[in-house]
Amino acid sequence: MNRFIIPILAVLVLIALLLLVLFTGPKTENTASVTEPPTTAAPELPPVTMDLNLYCFQAGKADALLIWNEAGAVLIDTGVTGYGKTIVEKMTELGLERLDALILTHFDNDHVGGAKKVLISFPVGTVYQSNYPRDSSAYEKYLKALTENNITPVTVRETQTFTLGDAVFTINAPKQEVYSEDPSNNSSLIVTVQHGENRILLCGDAEDQRMTEFLQKDPGSCTLVKMPHHGAWQTTLTSLIEKTQPAWALITSSDEEPEDPRTIELLTQNQVQCLLTRTAPILAVSDGKTLTVQYTE
Ligand SMILES: [Zn+2]
Repeated sequence: MNRFIIPILAVLVLIALLLLVLFTGPKTENTASVTEPPTTAAPELPPVTMDLNLYCFQAGKADALLIWNEAGAVLIDTGVTGYGKTIVEKMTELGLERLDALILTHFDNDHVGGAKKVLISFPVGTVYQSNYPRDSSAYEKYLKALTENNITPVTVRETQTFTLGDAVFTINAPKQEVYSEDPSNNSSLIVTVQHGENRILLCGDAEDQRMTEFLQKDPGSCTLVKMPHHGAWQTTLTSLIEKTQPAWALITSSDEEPEDPRTIELLTQNQVQCLLTRTAPILAVSDGKTLTVQYTE
C-alpha cells in the first residue's frame, strides 16, 4: 500500500505547490494593475514652464488689468479717459513693448477710456471687443485709433480661446445682442485664465442677466475672481461664490465709489480674502500651483 500512497502524496504536494504559486505570485500583479490610475487623462493643459503675472491698476472705479509672462502680455480694459498714460508708463517700466492681445470687456468709459492711448503707443496683436457699441467720445476715439493703426477688432460672439506661453485664455461671449437691463454692462466679455492649477476669472461689469447666463455652465473652482461691476451687490454673487469658491476676490473700487458692504459680507462669510484697488494696486504671481497675491505700488 505504501508504494502507492507515497507517489500520490507527492503528486498532491506538487499540485498544492503549483496552486500556491498560481494564486499568490501573479495575484500581486493583478492587484497592482487594478489600482493603477485610469488611462483616460484629465483635459490637457500646457505644462507650466514660466510664472504668470497679473497686475491690477489702481484706476478708481474702473478696470485695467495687465497679464504677462516671458511669452508676452495681454491687457484687459484700459481705465477711464486719460488713464492710458499710466498704463503705458507701467508697461514701459516692466519692459513690455507690445501687447499680444487687448481685451475690452465692454465700452463704458471706465473700461475703454485709455484704449486710444494704448493703441497708439504699442503694437497690438489682436483686439477682442464686446458686441454692444456705445455713443460716447471715448468709444469714438477708440474706433479712430483702430482705423489709424489698421486694426480690425474681433467682436466676440462665440467663445474664443488663445494661449500666452503656458497660460490659456478663454473669452466667454454675451449670448444676447441687446440685454433688457443695463445692456452695456451685461454685454461684458468674461475672461478665464488657466495657468497650471490656478484659474483666474475676470467678470467685467456683468450684472445679474449676464451672470445668470454665464453660471448656467459651472465655471468650476477658481483661485481668484475679479468681482463683477466694481463690487456692486447683485443676487447672482451668492451663486458665483458658491460655484467658484475662490481663495481671493478682487474688487476695482475707489473711496469715492466704494464696493457694496453686502458684497464684502458675502465674501467674508465664505472665507474669501478681499483685495480692493481703492487700497493699492494688486500684484498676483502664479507658478502654476500657488498664487501669491499682494498689494504693491
Ligand atoms: Zn465699470
